[in-house]
Amino acid sequence: MILERIVVGAYGANCFILADENEPDKPAMVVDPGGEAERIYKKLMDEGITCQMIVLTHGHGDHIGGVEKLKKLTGAKVLIHHEDEVMLKDAAINLTAAMNGPKVAFAADRTIGEGDKLTIGKISIDILHTPGHTRGGICLHIPAEKLLISGDTLFYGSIGRTDFPGGDYKALINAIQTKLMKLDDETVVYPGHGASTTIGYERRKNPFIQG
Ligand SMILES: [Zn+2]
Ligand SMILES: [Zn+2]
Repeated sequence: MILERIVVGAYGANCFILADENEPDKPAMVVDPGGEAERIYKKLMDEGITCQMIVLTHGHGDHIGGVEKLKKLTGAKVLIHHEDEVMLKDAAINLTAAMNGPKVAFAADRTIGEGDKLTIGKISIDILHTPGHTRGGICLHIPAEKLLISGDTLFYGSIGRTDFPGGDYKALINAIQTKLMKLDDETVVYPGHGASTTIGYERRKNPFIQG
């Protein structure tokens, strides 16, 4: 499996390319193309990777700014949790109306929810619904690789903000405790901003998760 991180946009969002290098044309998903679609696309082209789907961990502007252009370039379908779908269509709700840069409003091609499985080549990805940062926030779990893409739900030593519309501190803590903390300690976590971590490290050191 190929996992590449590209830091995009003014807010330094982590965009991930997840590809199966053992299949012809290296099928892939791009997670959270928050901006700089041409740069992401060039990386795909340079490495012979085929983007089959664009998956959004949630509907905030810093994670969705490059979606429309990347979709145009690749023809990939756009997926988001059904409770965050509404955010894509409204620049006020996805916060791009208040951010520097273009206002973003578009429709998803497909909505997803808790327990759904996505497949890229031979890689199986489980969708975990982790509300709290937004109502429809998700994490992507790849059990075979012990790998989690956590969006703005869980960060290295921290957790997502809950002061935006749709935010809910209790829901966020509950989602982290019941869905993420049951994963193996060795699971490597790739958040929507900043450095990677592990479930074991966060279980022991994250001040929001203790007790
Ligand atoms: Zn966010
Ligand atoms: Zn973010």
